[in-house]
Amino acid sequence: MRVPKERLVRKIVRVSGVVQGVGFRPFVALLASRYRLCGWVRNTSGTVEIEIEGSPEYVDTFVDSLLSEAPPLAQITSVSSLDADPIGYSHFEIRESTAEEGGRCVIPADIAVCEECLQEIADPKNRRFHYAFTNCTNCGPRYTIVRRVPYDRANTTMASFAMCTDCAAEYHSSHDRRFHAEPIACPQCGPRVWLENEGEIVESEPLRRAGELLFQGRIVAIKGLGGFHLACDARSDGVVRMLRSRKGRSAKPFAIMVRDIKEAERICELTPQARELLLSRQRPIVLARKKPSPGISEQVAPSNKNLGVMLPYTPLHVLLLEYSPAALVMTSGNLSEEPLVFTNSLAREKLAGLADAFLMHDRDIHIPCDDSVVRADYSEEPVLIRRARGYVPEAIQLPFESPEILAVGAEQKNTFCLAWEQQAVVSQHIGDLDTAETLDYFKYAVDHFLALFGRRPAIVAHDLHPAYMSSQYAKAMQVDTRVGVQHHHAHVAACLAENGCTDRCIGIALDGTGYGTEGTVWGGELLLADLKDFERVGRFAVVRMPGGEASIRDPCRMALAYLQSAYQDKCWDIANSLGIKFSELETRVIKRQLETGLNSPLTSSAGRLFDAVSAALGVCRERTYEGQPAAELEAAVDETEGGSYAGRLYYAEGLLNLDFTPIFRCAVEEFLSGTSVQTVAARFHNSLVDLLARACEDIRNRTRISTIALSGGVFQNAIITIKLSERLRASGFDVLMHRVLPPNDACISFGQAIVAASRHIIKG
Ligand SMILES: [Zn+2]
Ligand SMILES: [Zn+2]
Ligand SMILES: [Zn+2]
Repeated sequence: MRVPKERLVRKIVRVSGVVQGVGFRPFVALLASRYRLCGWVRNTSGTVEIEIEGSPEYVDTFVDSLLSEAPPLAQITSVSSLDADPIGYSHFEIRESTAEEGGRCVIPADIAVCEECLQEIADPKNRRFHYAFTNCTNCGPRYTIVRRVPYDRANTTMASFAMCTDCAAEYHSSHDRRFHAEPIACPQCGPRVWLENEGEIVESEPLRRAGELLFQGRIVAIKGLGGFHLACDARSDGVVRMLRSRKGRSAKPFAIMVRDIKEAERICELTPQARELLLSRQRPIVLARKKPSPGISEQVAPSNKNLGVMLPYTPLHVLLLEYSPAALVMTSGNLSEEPLVFTNSLAREKLAGLADAFLMHDRDIHIPCDDSVVRADYSEEPVLIRRARGYVPEAIQLPFESPEILAVGAEQKNTFCLAWEQQAVVSQHIGDLDTAETLDYFKYAVDHFLALFGRRPAIVAHDLHPAYMSSQYAKAMQVDTRVGVQHHHAHVAACLAENGCTDRCIGIALDGTGYGTEGTVWGGELLLADLKDFERVGRFAVVRMPGGEASIRDPCRMALAYLQSAYQDKCWDIANSLGIKFSELETRVIKRQLETGLNSPLTSSAGRLFDAVSAALGVCRERTYEGQPAAELEAAVDETEGGSYAGRLYYAEGLLNLDFTPIFRCAVEEFLSGTSVQTVAARFHNSLVDLLARACEDIRNRTRISTIALSGGVFQNAIITIKLSERLRASGFDVLMHRVLPPNDACISFGQAIVAASRHIIKG
């Protein structure tokens, strides 16, 4: 039944957001056929463009349904429609994509294998039975295989695989759930897996063979979605120890991949949020509380109450776990401190000394992406620790219109961020920029991002620290404007913007070290800040960092600095009774450093305070990875203990000083008089919360500001985060925390972009 020409209306509709690679065009075609409408749909560089023609009622219902019935993976940010004169289209069609200069482009994140694809690979009658690269419109690789935009097969690393007739039929049929699934593949035409073991290439049942090797206690390098993993049997002390020694990683926890949610539940206490995250389409590593004796080697996460657990997220992993032990250590395939290995040739070269065998495939990874990590061992909101696979490159909406800005991030846990219009896209975790390899990866990823999103920013934002590699990169860039952003202001601005808050607030930024504005090392800061500017109003009372960088690597040096602050000349005797020992030479050097301040800057760092307490109590005196003393101190806490010690607040140099020396002194004395480490560690945590809350009340009394933003690596500590936010809320504060980015330095790039944008705003 055709609509008479005079009753026809035509609309030109543009849909923006994550609308490509998520089954949006087939959905549009289906809607059009439901309402008997004609016209066409196509992808452009950043939007889906639709022309729709038919009776006015149906055209309007169609436009409404675009939003209300959108496919589950789509994230629509706007739908605009313009009326146009009717043309008299005879049918509805999906047209070829066009690339558009300057268009917004939104590439979807990689998506974990869906239920329907899982059923197919488990069905012996299905042509994709046991096929490791099965995917569909609702699942599969995206970001990691895209070379350029628009998101079409020809622009991905699947371009080299010509579709067979069966796949082509599915791809072109609007009734098939693989309609325009760009990475579509099958055993006839798609990528293949093989195993390389002692010079032999195993092409027959490579996954079964890899599973056997894992059962035999071997370490296997496995190419996955965003890079290589090193895998081994998580139940075996022997092989986990071997992996630690080969990787040169003595204590930092490994993540494990377990066969299914039942196995995860057998091993860990799962909160409802943890369960939901484990099964989510992002499938991150979820940090959850270990159950007693779950049969997992203690070597996986020594001195830690939590285990990082994830579920298989690609068919390859699902199939591998059918043949292998039900819990595998799955750690990033890299040399210590280097970026993730993601090509077959680099794996053979770099991982040769680490892995006994290689499970390879021939679908190229264009841009590597580590597993994401989320902490969900408490009932509060989960905290992102590392944001990468599954989340990147999802855009964050901005509370204003931004000029084009590249923000290059911090030195540790680096990410970078691209902001334009009303959005910002934060890169995946890049790593610590202190090796040439990681710096190369950073540059490669920045170039890829700029090309992918078609941006040429005239503004670059960077940290104030002149020695950061990211700052030097910014300095060398050819841009009109450079904006230096103080590290802790970036932390607070990121937290505010994530929460859509543009007001001035009290910002608490607690982390290891950040470049201050007056020559001291910051890291325990209370700011009055908005998105544009800040004023420092409080800090942790300063102590020396004897030997500067050396005191970051050696927590015993920080213990001594606090001992000196508490006991002056008697500090060496107390150190002795605590069992803290230095060589004769070191003792002489440190004494001199503490006396003269030589190469020993003053610091207000919260991270260094945790180091000092952890070392004083004998929890961690040898730091083998960043954050270890604090992580192990938190793990030592007796959560039922409510006691605390009194700290001191005083004003000096125009700043509210939070003096932890009395707290440190009480902790040491209780410990020496025989109180358990667990109790003292708990009381230290409680004291820190108490002093911070009192400081905030003091600032509120003077400023009438009662919104607080919490940021910085210390807020990876669940005890501090939960107790402090509860305490502040109970005394009437509005508490803002990170929701989409980690509180650690991974959020710095976003904060830099926010501050730079606020200073160069186009329109408010
Ligand atoms: Zn699927
Ligand atoms: Zn095929
Ligand atoms: Zn920081």
